[in-house]
Order: sequence, then C-alpha cells, then structure tokens
Amino acid sequence: MRAKIVAGNWKMNNDLAMTQSLITELKKQSQTSNAEVMIAPSFTNLWPAFEALKNHKIEVVAQNMHQKASGAYTGEVSAEMLKSIGVNTVILGHSERREYFDETNALLAEKVDAALKNGMRVIFCFGEVLDDRKSGWAESVVKTQLKESLFHLDKSAFENIILAYEPVWAIGTGETATPEQAQEIHKHVRNVLTEKYDDELAESVSILYGGSVKPGNAKEIFSKPDVDGGLIGGASLNASDFYAIVNAI
Ligand code: PEP
Repeated sequence: MRAKIVAGNWKMNNDLAMTQSLITELKKQSQTSNAEVMIAPSFTNLWPAFEALKNHKIEVVAQNMHQKASGAYTGEVSAEMLKSIGVNTVILGHSERREYFDETNALLAEKVDAALKNGMRVIFCFGEVLDDRKSGWAESVVKTQLKESLFHLDKSAFENIILAYEPVWAIGTGETATPEQAQEIHKHVRNVLTEKYDDELAESVSILYGGSVKPGNAKEIFSKPDVDGGLIGGASLNASDFYAIVNAI
C-alpha cells in the first residue's frame, strides 16, 4: 500500500506569530486521517513549528536546502543543519526554485544525494511549463527531469523519495490540471519507473499532485488511481481549507 500524503508548502508566508496561530488552528482541525500530513514553514519557523507540534502527528518539513554540508555559502542551510533540529523531510525541485533560483536537474541530483545521505526523505517536484504542454512535450519533459535528478539512484533509495507532479501552469494560477491530465502523467511516471527499475518500485512510490488543489476539487483529483495525495500551496495557509483537502483523501 502506497503512503497517502498531503503536504502544505507555505512558501515565503507567515512570520512567527502567524506560524504559531496557523498551527493552533491546524491542531483544532486535525482528526484521525489515513493520510500523512506535513507542513513546510520557512526556515526561521521550523523550530517554533516543532515546538508547537510536540507530540502531534503533523510532520514539519523544509522547503529547500543546500547541497553542501557546510562552508562559505552565505545564507544557505544544509541537510545536516535541518537534521540537527529534527527535520526528516525536504521539498526539492519546486518550480519556483527552478525558475527564480536557476536550480537545474543536475544541481537537484546533488541536493537529493545530500538529503538521502543524511537519512532524509525527499519530496521531489517536477512538471512541465505551459509551452511544453501545448507542444505535446509534457511527458518527455517530466521524464528528463526524473532521469537527470533521480535515475542515478539505486532502487532502494526510492524508499525515501516521494514524487510530486506539479504542472507549472497550474501552480498558484487557479488553473488545475483535470483529474484525467494528472492521472495521465502519474501513470506515465510509473511507466518510466518500470522501464528504468521495475514494477515493484513503480507501484511503491507515492506520487502527489500539486497545482491549485482546493477543497472543491481535491476529492476528484485524489480519486484517481495513481494520485496518492497532494502538495498544496495557497490552500495550505488556511487551516480549514487545508484539512478539507486532507479529509478528501
Ligand atoms: C505549490 O506551490 O506547490 C502549489 C501547488 O501551489 P498552489 O496550490 O497554490 O497552486
């Protein structure tokens, strides 16, 4: 059985007070769920989020990290530092990191290695831009992203990889991939994983969908057989919307 996961990517939102009050709201909303629930606050709010969620099942995860362990990389945070405060999962390859911070597939391969070396799980984001989709290249773009950042890994490393298909044209735009479009790419990804590794691996990796998931469309998207949950941006900033999405699993 693949893990069902809903992760909230807060991006560069919420100062300390807002982080604490959103977590208070999340704790009120949370109930037994068959999904793993994660939130990704900014670096400065990771520790306060841990404190606020002590003995609670919501996992606190990071939005990014540097590929090196330490050194003269002003402003950066390493996997080692994240691990030292108890962060066990990191989002890598988000399209905003790719677009605004020039993160390439090759760089992301290094980041993935650094995270795995530190025993962390990776939520690896990938997805095509609108022009790729219009040109009919979505499947090949996605395959290249996976190949260049992940396919140097052994099969066993995938125990710690969660995939997140995020068509760039659907992120923060209010435009969502149809459940059929999401299913099509998720299925394609499983085929690509079978081709490179085997069926067992392809069937075991959780693949989340991200891109304008809201309470009103979550159930339909999550009902698709190859969609194992969601990576949620905007709607994760509101506790009741976020939990409506979690409960749609
Ligand atoms: C995201 O940034 O990962 C995301 C899916 O954002 P939104 O839900 O706002 O489209």
